[in-house]
Amino acid sequence: MSFLSRETGIAEQVAALGAQWLPAEPLSANTSLGVGGRADLVRLPDVQRLPELAEYLHRRGARWRVLGGGTNLLVVDEGLDDVILQLVREPDGLRFEGQRVEVPAAASLGTVVMECAKRNLGGMEGLIGVPGTVGGALHMNAGAYGTEIGDLVRAVTVYRGSAPRQEELQTGNLRFDYRHSSFAPDDVLLSAALELPERPYAEIVERIKECNQKRRASQPINERSAGCIFKNPPGHSTGKLIDALGLKGTRVGGAVVSELHANYIVNHYQATASDIFKLMDLMRERVLGAYGIELEEEVVVWRK
Ligand SMILES: Cc1cc2nc3c(=O)[nH]c(=O)nc-3n(C[C@H](O)[C@H](O)[C@H](O)COP(=O)(O)OP(=O)(O)OC[C@H]3O[C@@H](n4cnc5c(N)ncnc54)[C@H](O)[C@@H]3O)c2cc1C
Repeated sequence: MSFLSRETGIAEQVAALGAQWLPAEPLSANTSLGVGGRADLVRLPDVQRLPELAEYLHRRGARWRVLGGGTNLLVVDEGLDDVILQLVREPDGLRFEGQRVEVPAAASLGTVVMECAKRNLGGMEGLIGVPGTVGGALHMNAGAYGTEIGDLVRAVTVYRGSAPRQEELQTGNLRFDYRHSSFAPDDVLLSAALELPERPYAEIVERIKECNQKRRASQPINERSAGCIFKNPPGHSTGKLIDALGLKGTRVGGAVVSELHANYIVNHYQATASDIFKLMDLMRERVLGAYGIELEEEVVVWRK
């Protein structure tokens, strides 16, 4: 837990800044993998109030990390000392202007894909089954079935933790690579402007159905996971490399290599983060031994 928990009246002070203070919140309950210890969580419904809240945290020397939907995170069992900042979905949502749409970072990515489809705006179909928020997708440059969100971004409004101030970054000042973006860990992404190609609704929906079917057939979408654990090395599929080593079903404690997709670790039996780290080490060592390839984590690991 953060040192702020020891301050008296912290909940009231944070409430006066328009946010909710949730002390010692179990991060296992806020991540799709369902593991991770406790940390102090601040939920902010109105992003307009972020500068005040950030300034308040700055003044006290508190560091923060930003939580989206928690679908790409592996948090250590011992919990974290940093404050966890989470933007809550805004009710007023998306703003459309021709082929451009402005989306709040807290919006669910799947909702954005569907809302755009209703206005005959496509290009995001491949992202339909990627869980989590727009903010998380931007930070990770989420991608699937030939689409990466970074290709569709024209501008991002961000509160820069290091400055600290709010800035609108245009395409030239943004970098998106494979499951990586140029944002700093304490940047808080607030919204993004996307530019999408016009397509008939029926065509978009057909493509969405196709992607959903492929995903259902090849990924354990109803189990607790964080999606792919490792990135694909250039020219290889990590899932295929691990599968060829016969590691599907391998279990450490409660963590299991998925039978459906060998690059997914699923939390079957109340796994701990430590179980998952051990299983990741085993997968990494086996791949290195067999192919001489060092796997790089795709999942974001939050250590103390
Ligand atoms: C079943 C399943 C399938 C998946 N399939 C895919 C897939 O096909 N392709 C793919 O790319 N990913 C996939 N993922 C991984 C994950 O869904 C994506 O990475 C997603 O974009 C993460 O979004 P999130 O809101 O959950 O982010 P989180 O997991 O909460 O955070 C991820 C990172 O983004 C940062 N972040 C989140 N929100 C903000 C913000 N507002 N400002 C600044 N930083 C922020 C966090 O600090 C963290 O570093 C899958 C996951 C699951 C569980």
